[in-house]
Amino acid sequence: MTQELPLVGGIEAGGTKFVCAIGYGPGRILARERFPTDASGRPRSTVEACLDWFAREQARLGQRIAAVGIGSFGPVDLTTATIAATPKPGWAGFPLGKAFADALGVPMGFDTDVNAAALGEHRWGAGQGLGTVVYLTIGTGVGGGAVIDGRILHGAVHPEMGHFLIPPAGTDGFAGNCPFHGPCWEGLCSGPALAKRWGMPADQLPANHPAWAIAAEEIARGLYALRCVLSPQRIILGGSVPKGGQLGGPGFFALINAALERIDRGYLAPIPGLVVPPALGDDAGALGCFVLAQDALQAP
Ligand SMILES: [Zn+2]
Repeated sequence: MTQELPLVGGIEAGGTKFVCAIGYGPGRILARERFPTDASGRPRSTVEACLDWFAREQARLGQRIAAVGIGSFGPVDLTTATIAATPKPGWAGFPLGKAFADALGVPMGFDTDVNAAALGEHRWGAGQGLGTVVYLTIGTGVGGGAVIDGRILHGAVHPEMGHFLIPPAGTDGFAGNCPFHGPCWEGLCSGPALAKRWGMPADQLPANHPAWAIAAEEIARGLYALRCVLSPQRIILGGSVPKGGQLGGPGFFALINAALERIDRGYLAPIPGLVVPPALGDDAGALGCFVLAQDALQAP
């Protein structure tokens, strides 16, 4: 199937690294490389490093990409493919989409990193064949994207699922670490929030540490809100935190699912396998960018 797809480029533009890839689809990523996201006020230097790599790899492969897809850290202005307000020096207002599209000279698709991953999982992964899926990443931050009845959800800007407010669990009175909201979902559940709360990185927390049950409860409270609002057929949890550190992913997902059931109190019909890890694993973002690129070729 993937043989018939056009060769495309993908750029996962993250806050700490840009991951560039060239390929067709699942199992057919021909080249991939990562570059640090510039933090010294010179965003163009990151773009140039990526462009050099695309030039080298296209020469090595003897083929040119037909389009490029960019899944960007946010917030972004989707109408202009520009980075919006960000504390990252030099990046606010940077026209990321145009910088790549002009230099590569191919059609370009642009969305948030999490919308791209949602799209990738919807097309080829855990959301395949389903109309409405949510993709969440819980790592450095918490971010989410949604495909609703087959279409990516944008709305006025784009969803910022990490920042809604949930009732905190636990009795430690943790004040959260979101600079805007304190104990919002991200302020409670992100990797840095867990590290601040428990005094060690999440991946070092012992399997029997109470942190896991509290994190599962707080993640489930947010997921339940998403379930009530968007009615997803599947919720895909990516990022480093759902890997569960020393507890392990299966154990952590079991805690999350049990918490969801407890919160629901039998109100909604259970959906077996509602909350799952990404079927595309760590490739969800890159493959989502491929989908953005391939869809850009279909655009009128
Ligand atoms: Zn927040």
